[in-house]
Amino acid sequence: MKVMKFGGTSVGKPERMHQVKDLVTASDEPTIVVLSALSGTTNALVSIGEALAAADRILAKERIDALHAHYLDFYPQLLETEKARKKAEAIIKEHFEFLNIILKISFNEAINRDILAQGELLSTKLFYTLLEELEIPAVFLVALDFMSIDENSEPELGKISEKLKAILAQHPGEKLFITQGYICKNHRNEVDNLKRGGSDYTASLIAAAINASVCEIWTDIDGMHNNDPRIVDKTRPIAELSFDEAAELAYFGAKILHPASIWPAQQYNVPVRLLNTMDPQAHGTLIKADVETKGVKAIAAKDGITAIKIKSSRMLLAYGFLRRVFEIFEKYKTPIDMITTSEVAVSVTIDDTSHLKAIIQELETLGSVEVDQNQTIICIVGNMVSETRGAIKSVMDSLVDFPIRMVSYGGSRHNVSLLLDTKYKKEALQSLNEGVFQWD
Ligand code: ADP
Ligand code: ASP
Ligand code: MG
Repeated sequence: MKVMKFGGTSVGKPERMHQVKDLVTASDEPTIVVLSALSGTTNALVSIGEALAAADRILAKERIDALHAHYLDFYPQLLETEKARKKAEAIIKEHFEFLNIILKISFNEAINRDILAQGELLSTKLFYTLLEELEIPAVFLVALDFMSIDENSEPELGKISEKLKAILAQHPGEKLFITQGYICKNHRNEVDNLKRGGSDYTASLIAAAINASVCEIWTDIDGMHNNDPRIVDKTRPIAELSFDEAAELAYFGAKILHPASIWPAQQYNVPVRLLNTMDPQAHGTLIKADVETKGVKAIAAKDGITAIKIKSSRMLLAYGFLRRVFEIFEKYKTPIDMITTSEVAVSVTIDDTSHLKAIIQELETLGSVEVDQNQTIICIVGNMVSETRGAIKSVMDSLVDFPIRMVSYGGSRHNVSLLLDTKYKKEALQSLNEGVFQWD
């Protein structure tokens, strides 16, 4: 069995949905299709939630109506028969009635997550209606019946696998299953989600849960590029990445993949393919276990980073100092991304600043603390150590004009991370692009 995930732009127009229909019916292999919401929908739902959180019901109503109008325009272009159109009308009515009811009740975070779930429910139901109209046999799966996260918002892969396999067993002989990306149930049995871009994560979790032959992520670009194509001029797709390389790039800002979307596939050794819905013949990127890598392969950047430096003479020759530092971050469930140390100071970076004040207060009991905000981690991925001499030289030469706040080298052989002020990011990425890669 294989998994095929289509992102927002791949289902964002009626003609694109038709293309998706062609792609998912092209092979004989049983397939679970994971769909995102139509492009723009989740952003619109977020903004509806924000208006309600600000108690601005008039603005929320305007935003609901604008989104509703988009769907009323969409479905007649998607479907031809009266019967299918009536069905789509009823689906859209149901979901927008729900949003309009929410306008009248008191707003809270759980309701907000219910609002966010409407996008994937709408896209999958409309796509399923298209398949019905074309008499293509398929089974509609509700992700909320099997996708779950625990109290730390971590996916429960064991439970997901058990439930999904039981559901699939009820449909022997079926070849095509359609389900929602992004949405899940939490430990309180409320509707929740896997964070923005989470449909990739859903696809990888499903691929791991059923031990799929491949997890295909279909999007609007021909694979993982060597640098961020939104920021840098001239980038190119990478044919192959190892799981570790892809995970690093995803975590450090390559938006094509959700930050956590690699580990489930990696754990069950399911190859991941990044493919382009607009150009299905393009090779894209194959992500798998063993990949031969020489030199630098790709660069990604992650903004919104805070650097914290703890300086203490007590660190000199002392053991246990780092443990005390890390315990403070652990206490506040705040992950650390980068670490650099000297004899008298340690610098770490975090991106979740929700407990920054409390963390600083506690760190101050260990030494003096300095905080730099608006930082960017630039992550350079490839075979950086041992076999490839000089890779780091081209990296550093490209960055001579930029003040670098931290460097982390040698933590793994496939990565160098650098920290600099976000205001230098664009120029630094461009300079690295020209200095580190070979261009004809
Ligand atoms: P989808 O809606 O299909 O999930 P996303 O917008 O989440 O698509 O991801 C695809 C986009 O990721 C591309 O259009 C591209 O702009 C952006 N992107 C950022 N970094 C990279 C990269 N290194 N390689 C390819 N795409 C990237
Ligand atoms: N629709 C969700 C989002 O826009 C999930 C996804 O597209 O992957 O974040
Ligand atoms: Mg995405």
